[in-house]
Amino acid sequence: MATAIITGSARGIGAAIALRLAKDGFDIALNDISEAMFENNDIVEQIKAEGVMCEYFIADVSNYADCERFVKEVKAKFGTIDVLVNNAGITRDGLLARMSEENFDTVIAVNQKSVFNMTKHAGSVMMKQKSGRIVNLSSVAGLHGNPGQFNYSASKAAIIGMTKTVAKELGSRGITCNAVAPGFIKTPMTDKLTDAQKEKILQVIAMRRYGTVEEIAGVVSFLASKDASYVTGQVIEISGGLSM
Ligand code: NAD
Repeated sequence: MATAIITGSARGIGAAIALRLAKDGFDIALNDISEAMFENNDIVEQIKAEGVMCEYFIADVSNYADCERFVKEVKAKFGTIDVLVNNAGITRDGLLARMSEENFDTVIAVNQKSVFNMTKHAGSVMMKQKSGRIVNLSSVAGLHGNPGQFNYSASKAAIIGMTKTVAKELGSRGITCNAVAPGFIKTPMTDKLTDAQKEKILQVIAMRRYGTVEEIAGVVSFLASKDASYVTGQVIEISGGLSM
């Protein structure tokens, strides 16, 4: 059985990716920042109902030592690490003029440094296996910028640079690394927007609707599948035609 790690997967896009990869036959290592994220939450049961192994691991992905321990625990429990989805991410939005240093540093640590932490440790396991798939969650904000998201856009653009570099460094070891760049997807992250903000956004989406978490999970599933074996270093925008 092949194993997939999905960071920040107690809810939202991460949980949908985990469920989809379980349907694809992967054993699933879930992750989130605290035990509380898995309380009153049936994601583990939903995944096990697909007939695969599933366990959750508490780790702060912005913390290097936590990621090292987390990856070691997954390897010991599941034997191999075949897919890594760097999904955990946060927003601390605000215009640059008013953005605090703390809000800049926190977003960079959780969204960007986490990709270094997890890819370094899981990538080392994949290099020994001479196979692996890495999928990173970027964003349209990383591709095109977004007012009020200086910190977030910086972290998501950095993910694109890291994705292409990993693709080049690890390609000869049979490892692919790609990114997906979602537009506006209905999750707790976007529920925080005001009605006026939501209406404004819909006007610039060609398909005039938000995306669903399943629509992100489907593309990640493809990138983790045999069909994508020769796709690496790419960024796939999933935005209903937000930017053309
Ligand atoms: P979400 O807030 O619903 O889920 C994110 C998960 O990550 C949460 O469960 C959270 O607890 C976890 N997390 C946060 N910090 C963590 C840490 N330090 N360690 C471990 N886990 C941590 O968000 P979402 O909308 O599902 O977003 C998932 C990913 O998709 C993020 O990287 C986000 O930037 C990206 N994305 C989302 C959208 C969107 O419209 N929702 C658009 C573009 C990109």
